[in-house]
Amino acid sequence: MRLSRPPPRIVEGIDRTLLAQCGIGDVGAVREVVSQPGTGLVITARLGNLRSVYQSARNLIETGFSQPLLLDANRYGGNRRMPATIPFSRDWLSRQRDMGLPVLTDSGYAEGGDVAGVTRILSQAAEIGDVVAVLPLHLSWFTVPEARRTLLRLVRGFGVPVAIAIEHPRDPIGVRGTVDGLLELIGCAVPVMLLRCDVSALGALCCGAFAAAVGTRAALRHLYPRYRPSIRRRPSPPMPSVVVPRCLSYKRLSVVARTKRRHPDTDIWRCLCPTCGGRDLDWIFSRSEQAREWLAFQHSLGALVRLRNELTGPDLLEDQLSWRSRCANAAYWRREVGWDSLPALDRWQEAIGLPPSDDLPPPPYRPGRNITPQRGSGDGPSGE
Ligand SMILES: [Zn+2]
Repeated sequence: MRLSRPPPRIVEGIDRTLLAQCGIGDVGAVREVVSQPGTGLVITARLGNLRSVYQSARNLIETGFSQPLLLDANRYGGNRRMPATIPFSRDWLSRQRDMGLPVLTDSGYAEGGDVAGVTRILSQAAEIGDVVAVLPLHLSWFTVPEARRTLLRLVRGFGVPVAIAIEHPRDPIGVRGTVDGLLELIGCAVPVMLLRCDVSALGALCCGAFAAAVGTRAALRHLYPRYRPSIRRRPSPPMPSVVVPRCLSYKRLSVVARTKRRHPDTDIWRCLCPTCGGRDLDWIFSRSEQAREWLAFQHSLGALVRLRNELTGPDLLEDQLSWRSRCANAAYWRREVGWDSLPALDRWQEAIGLPPSDDLPPPPYRPGRNITPQRGSGDGPSGE
C-alpha cells in the first residue's frame, strides 16, 4: 500500500480507540486501566454466558464507567462455533441498544470461500442499519488475492461498519497478505475495527481503524482454529506474557526475566506504565503466581495505552510513519537481546512503505520494496 491519507473513521464517538478485550472475570481488574480518553472495553462471552455479560455491562454503566463499552457474543469461536449464515439474535442486538452501547452483531464464523456466509452477515447488518457487523474470518480471506478482492467488494458494497477477527493459531498479522488486506479494507471508506488482537492493534489504529481490541489473556489475543480433542489435547493456556514496549512484543514473564539477566544494562526493561511505576518489567515475575496474571495484563494494557497516546495524532500519514519507524526500532531491540525476528513487525513495515519524496514521483507499490531484509524474517510464531 502506498502511503495515503485516509479520512478518519469514526463510529458513534469511538475514534481510534484502544479497547481491552476480556471475559467477565477480568472486568474489575481492567476497568481502571481503560478509564481514560482513547480507551474502552470489550466484554467477551464464553460458552454462551450472555446473561452474565449483560449483568457485567449493566454494573459498569451503573457504577459510572463512561468509556466506550462493547459486547462480543463470541458465537464464532471455539469448537462449537456457529456458521456465518446463522441469523442474528434480535434479543442480543436489542439488549446492547437498550443499554446505549454500540451494537455488535453475534455473527458466526466464515470459512475460507464462504462467500454466502460473509454476504449473509453483511446483508443482515445492512438491513438492520445501526450495527457493527462482526466478521470472523478464515485467514485465506486475506492471503488469497481473489478472496481478498471479493471481501473488499462485499464490504464496500454493503457499506456497514465491520469488526474483523482473523483466525490463526499464532499471529495472522505475521502472514504475508494480511496487513495488505487489512489496509485495503481500512481504505475502502467503511469504518473498520479489529477484535482479538495483540500489539498490532496499535498498527491498525495508526493506519485509520476506528478501534482495535487487545486481549487481556492470550486466548483473547487470537481467534484459534478448531481443535480435534480425539487426536490432540488442546494446548494448556500459556504462562502470562507481558508487553515489552520497546520491542512491540508480548513475551512470557519467565523469558523477560531470563533475558534481563543476560542483558541487564539494555535500556528496554524499565516501564513507566501506572502498574510498574518505573520498575523493571521482571518485578512482576517475583510476585505470586496468582497475582502475576492480573499484573501482567494491567501492565500490558497500561503500556499499550501509553504507546497509543504517543503514536496517534490528528495526521494519519504521520501516524503511519511513526508506527513504521517504531516497528523498525522494535526489530532492532529484539535482535539486540537475541530474540527471533517477529514477522508482524516486518509485515507492517512492508505494507506501509516509505513516504513519497518531494523530488521524485512515488514508485509503484511493491511489497518489501526499499526494506532491508531482516534476519529470519519468514512467517512464523508470534513470539509469545
Ligand atoms: Zn508497566
